Amino acid sequence: MNCDRCQNPAAYTRKYSGEKLCSQCFSKSIVRKTAKTISKYNMIKHDDLVAVAVSGGKDSLALLKIINEMALTHSFKIKAITIDEGIPGYRNEALDIVRKFCNELNVEYKVYAYKDLFELALDEALDLRENEKTSSCSICGTLRRRAIDYAARDIGADVIATGHNLDDTLQTFVINMLSGDTTKIGWMDPDTSANDLRKIKPFCEIYESEIVFYAFTNDMPFQAEPCPHMNEGIRTEIREFLNSLENQHSGIKNNLYQSILKVSTSVKNSNSKEKTKCEKCGNGCTGNVCAVCSVVLKLKENQT
Ligand code: SF4
Ligand code: ZN
Repeated sequence: MNCDRCQNPAAYTRKYSGEKLCSQCFSKSIVRKTAKTISKYNMIKHDDLVAVAVSGGKDSLALLKIINEMALTHSFKIKAITIDEGIPGYRNEALDIVRKFCNELNVEYKVYAYKDLFELALDEALDLRENEKTSSCSICGTLRRRAIDYAARDIGADVIATGHNLDDTLQTFVINMLSGDTTKIGWMDPDTSANDLRKIKPFCEIYESEIVFYAFTNDMPFQAEPCPHMNEGIRTEIREFLNSLENQHSGIKNNLYQSILKVSTSVKNSNSKEKTKCEKCGNGCTGNVCAVCSVVLKLKENQT
């Protein structure tokens, strides 16, 4: 079985299109698709400094590799930022992988720890939780968003790029729908050009399985060990549900993604309430205190 684009043996079959590709043509197709997404949503502009959030997982390392190659031939610069949540036995291996990979690519990188930013490592924060029902990932995700914003401003970035793929986007959408959190659906619109710090997800139109194959076929060293808290939330169940739908009806994830694009844009437009400044940290929010400060304040109240 040969590649549809050249005569080399095929290594990957794209089930939703039937296309068969050799390893090289497959990798090129991922790079091209990423570039297309970036230009479709005007994600990166001339002279931008892009902060690439790198966790040490396959998605963020693949993004760093691809975006670094683009930066070499375009008029933007990149730096990597890594967040250390403070999860014993998990993050250290990832930090090591990130350091080696950034050195190999000659990309400047900096690590920011929850402990330094919030005076609480994730595990300490989780011990202070009042309600065990608040999942580790919801606390961690809230803190991570703020940590990434802080890190990006600290290095003077214009844009934050994360490795979220199409599957992550679908899962987040379903989680938001199931929790009744429609405001967050508005945040999913890929066009963030109105923000002072733009957030981009250049892999948002690529299946997770394709990023896995890209990382594998390019011999990329990524952390395979999952976070110990990974299965506490509902995300894993939703991932399995969406994967089983895709197995039976290939291309269904692409369809759901197209619906999300339409829904998120209209939710964003109807939600565009005037923003105020959080009275604790000065970041933009829609009430008196932003979501991150509310979480941190509540945890610290429990500490005393
Ligand atoms: Fe944080 Fe959850 Fe990710 Fe672990 S799986 S790093 S707890 S968001
Ligand atoms: Zn080929």
